[in-house]
Amino acid sequence: MTSLVFLAASLLLQDISWRPATPHQGSLIVVSAPGALTGEVAGEPLHFKDGKALAAVPLDATDSTSVATLAIRWDGAVVGNTAYMPVAPRKAPVNEQVRAAERFTPPPDSALLARIDAERTLMRDAARRAHELPRLWKLPFMRPRTARITSVFGSGRQVNGVWRSRHVGLDIAGPKGAPVRAANRGIVALVGEFFYGGISVFVHHGDGIMTVYYHLSRALVAAGDTVERGQLIGRVGATGRVTGPHLHWGAQYGSVAFNPTDLLKLP
Ligand SMILES: [Zn+2]
Repeated sequence: MTSLVFLAASLLLQDISWRPATPHQGSLIVVSAPGALTGEVAGEPLHFKDGKALAAVPLDATDSTSVATLAIRWDGAVVGNTAYMPVAPRKAPVNEQVRAAERFTPPPDSALLARIDAERTLMRDAARRAHELPRLWKLPFMRPRTARITSVFGSGRQVNGVWRSRHVGLDIAGPKGAPVRAANRGIVALVGEFFYGGISVFVHHGDGIMTVYYHLSRALVAAGDTVERGQLIGRVGATGRVTGPHLHWGAQYGSVAFNPTDLLKLP
């Protein structure tokens, strides 16, 4: 009996595949598993339709050999499965220097920490709710601005020479007031003014996908609004932790941030 189950499990594992075969850290992937109904990658549930689902590889997915593994648990008809995925390191500049206002230099005091915590909770809730909506888009994703890219996804950063972090979005140039457009059809999940992100808009697109737009001078939509692909949703600004006016465009699959340009490659 045990060997029967094992054999079935082996056959099912062979049916699981993903594109790209060796994804980079912080990237969007398409998982194929014919017949699969449920599953998860990096702790986020998958939404299978016709045997295919989107998923994301975390930016910090790595191990000592720089080839990380991720678990796909597939609860098939016979038995659950775990497939292991090789992950390639993301190549990005490691020491970008960002100059921001002096209030971003010292470590946050307790009042500020409480604010940052509350904002993280709001963003985490929005990320979780991204799984509750069906796919809302039909057309390809588009860049929210066509201007020059000034900082890529995944770069390592120093802010005012001290605080280091990875850049989990794409910075796009623009003067204050320039238009920011929704990357695709969706429903506005959250609008607010955040310590790091400044005036920010979060848009749910369904099937776990959310796009984020930071540092706006103005938001032109409210939570609950349905937005169309290319709709004007805000204006470029310099709010939050910034060097100057630009758009920070981010994308998440649930709580996992990935390179938003991967959305542009979806069929
Ligand atoms: Zn940015």
